[in-house]
Amino acid sequence: MIRTGILRAAVATVAATAALATAVPAQALSPHARPFDPKPGAPGAGDPLFPTLGNGGYDVRHYDLSFDFTPVTYDFTGTMKISARATQDLSSFNLDIDSLAIDAVTVDGKDAAWSVAPGSSGQELTVTPDGGLRDHRPFDVTVTYHGNGRTKPAGAPGWRHISDGGFVSAAQASRADTFAPVNDTTMDKATWTFHLTAPDGYTAGANGTATGTRPAAPGRTTRDFRLDAPMAPELLGISVARQTVLTGRGPHGITLRHLVPEDQADTYRPIVERTAGQIAWLENTLGVRYPFDTYGMQIVRDGYGDALENQTLSLFGPNWFKNAATSTTYTNVMIHELTHQWFGDSVTPTTWQSAWLNEGPAVYYAALWADRQGTASLQDKMKAAYSRLDAVRKTDGPPGLPTALGGFNIYDGAAVVLYALHQRVGQKEFDAVIASWLRKHRGGNADSQDFVDNAVRVTHDASLRPFLEDWLFSTENPPMPGHPDWV
Ligand SMILES: [Zn+2]
Repeated sequence: MIRTGILRAAVATVAATAALATAVPAQALSPHARPFDPKPGAPGAGDPLFPTLGNGGYDVRHYDLSFDFTPVTYDFTGTMKISARATQDLSSFNLDIDSLAIDAVTVDGKDAAWSVAPGSSGQELTVTPDGGLRDHRPFDVTVTYHGNGRTKPAGAPGWRHISDGGFVSAAQASRADTFAPVNDTTMDKATWTFHLTAPDGYTAGANGTATGTRPAAPGRTTRDFRLDAPMAPELLGISVARQTVLTGRGPHGITLRHLVPEDQADTYRPIVERTAGQIAWLENTLGVRYPFDTYGMQIVRDGYGDALENQTLSLFGPNWFKNAATSTTYTNVMIHELTHQWFGDSVTPTTWQSAWLNEGPAVYYAALWADRQGTASLQDKMKAAYSRLDAVRKTDGPPGLPTALGGFNIYDGAAVVLYALHQRVGQKEFDAVIASWLRKHRGGNADSQDFVDNAVRVTHDASLRPFLEDWLFSTENPPMPGHPDWV
């Protein structure tokens, strides 16, 4: 993501975090001998920055979202079908929602009791299935709901309103729950299918591969999408707008599917056409293939000003491109969000405390791109960032222990950490560490400690452990290898 403000996490108290710690069973019994002992699933997944985000007690395998949207009025109806598996004996479990009116909940096709209570970043939908659910048991939850996209959510906004009456989702870090009931934690990734319905004149978009278009009610069309690679809810990328689809081919058959305002296709075509070359450059630079089978840019006419790495469909506000006729600096933000498809989307931080693993590489490789294009020096950028980082470590936390998302510490500050690693081990080893990281954790979750472990393993250099821990967690800048004059 690129944005200007700092996204403050929900207030985290030590008590709240401690209360979410999972109890360790006193004695391990064989699963057959173990008595059924159902308890409520935790109302939070234990993220240090967002303690009530996500839920415990189950693991989502697949989300199937049907969403019917009426432009201008912003009314919508939805049906979310969740295939999950219990990870403990459950008497009840929670889903995250915000400003959704729940109509019915079933578990395995049977009506389930449910209630809604305020949470710290939205609401908690508590579902109590009849008789409870045994540990390891697969189960299906269906939630039917409705709402209005102009309702002010309890937390930060996730809906972005476009002046043509449409919308786009910008759900990071905690706002997927304003569109659908989800387990809104980075830790619980799942595959997805989408069925988005909109009236004629509007086109729906979603993450993944477009699999079909079919008539719905008179004057309305449903578009289907499928995402086979697991995705955290925060990367939800759905939209309905007066937009047009531009298609293309990337390296080794990657499908390119871009969404741009329908009356601006000629303006944006030469911009989105740079994507194929950028994927090839990043694949070559990282030494790892693009992790998904489709990619595209979603560019909105208005209503959104930042850039966000929604999985397989990065979202951009229009201002990044306003000088595109005379300058190519807009390509830097394209590289930033494209880099996130590897760092953040394919390999997702276990908690938001490790968000530097998303933003550090995105800033670093965009700066490397600019350097290779001859538009800005990587070394100059890193020197300036190093100089600023020392003070930021003290006010906002070091890159590996930020007090909030969105700050300099996890963006340019984290790029400085990668630059320091590069300076210390050299190009060949640095590339080996990065490629190994992306391959080892592809499609999964990993955190700062996993990054350190991987670097030590790949280089066979145990001294990298204190070196990286110092760079990630210290309240003072370590000296920059190769640049003893940097202050
Ligand atoms: Zn970013």
